[in-house]
Amino acid sequence: MGSKKRVAFVLIAALIGGATLTLAPPEAAQAAAPLVRTSAPAFYRMMLGGFEVTALLDGTAEFPVDKLFKLILIDTGSGRIYGPTLGSLVNNMRAAGYQPEQVDEIYITHMHADHVGGLMDGDKMVFPNAIVRADKRDADFWLSQASLEKAPDAAKEFFKGAMASLNPYVKANRFSPFDGETELSAGIKAVPTRGHTPGHSTYVVDNKGQKLVVWGDLIHVASVQFDNPSIGIQFDGDSKAAAVQRKRAFADAAKGGYIVAASHIQFPGLGRVRTNGKAFTWIPVNYSVVR
Ligand SMILES: [Zn+2]
Repeated sequence: MGSKKRVAFVLIAALIGGATLTLAPPEAAQAAAPLVRTSAPAFYRMMLGGFEVTALLDGTAEFPVDKLFKLILIDTGSGRIYGPTLGSLVNNMRAAGYQPEQVDEIYITHMHADHVGGLMDGDKMVFPNAIVRADKRDADFWLSQASLEKAPDAAKEFFKGAMASLNPYVKANRFSPFDGETELSAGIKAVPTRGHTPGHSTYVVDNKGQKLVVWGDLIHVASVQFDNPSIGIQFDGDSKAAAVQRKRAFADAAKGGYIVAASHIQFPGLGRVRTNGKAFTWIPVNYSVVR
């Protein structure tokens, strides 16, 4: 492997209310210039030491935040980010200059369907040349027929989604689980952050004194959880452990001043964390051209 390395991570931005800015007039008013209804950017690129880091937008989905947080407090239930607004990964990857066939390794933070669903397109492996890596605890849990059968009905879809996405890679000998903290390639290490799922992992990219930590699902709703990291979300498998990991990750990021990549923070999901000792604040990276 040469010194030029590329890391891409996939972002699923949560849309939390917010206003829509319409710059084109309504269709009826100017039919000659139909509304385009697409948006840029679909990828964002920055350098981290010798690594070229690309944030790829998979799409956005509306999050019923009030209901999810309420459900966390009083009950468990089903909830899945799903729909036609997601699944743009391959298109955006091509726009960013990569082909799916060029992907060598895929590191999975955890096996929820919004993080592994893109591995398959129907019965076709989207990344036929890639080795998929994930903590064995997530594989043992989500790919287990016994766990599926034991799971409450509302949770079965999560298991089925993980199995449909991962099993073809397992069968093709393209899945290689790891056990806890592991150096996966030079400058990239998996660090266990169990809680959201049994084998949730973050990935630390270190190069030439610069550091990036890919958080996965340590956070879902920036506007709520940076102020109060003890608030969990319905999808946290073990909400206490997830909160411990979240607080630890926030504090470490604030202390270390490194760049963080998070799956559900507004695109491109890259930023730093600041603290006043209690609450935390997300500071998005300045939008800048790659140098
Ligand atoms: Zn998740």
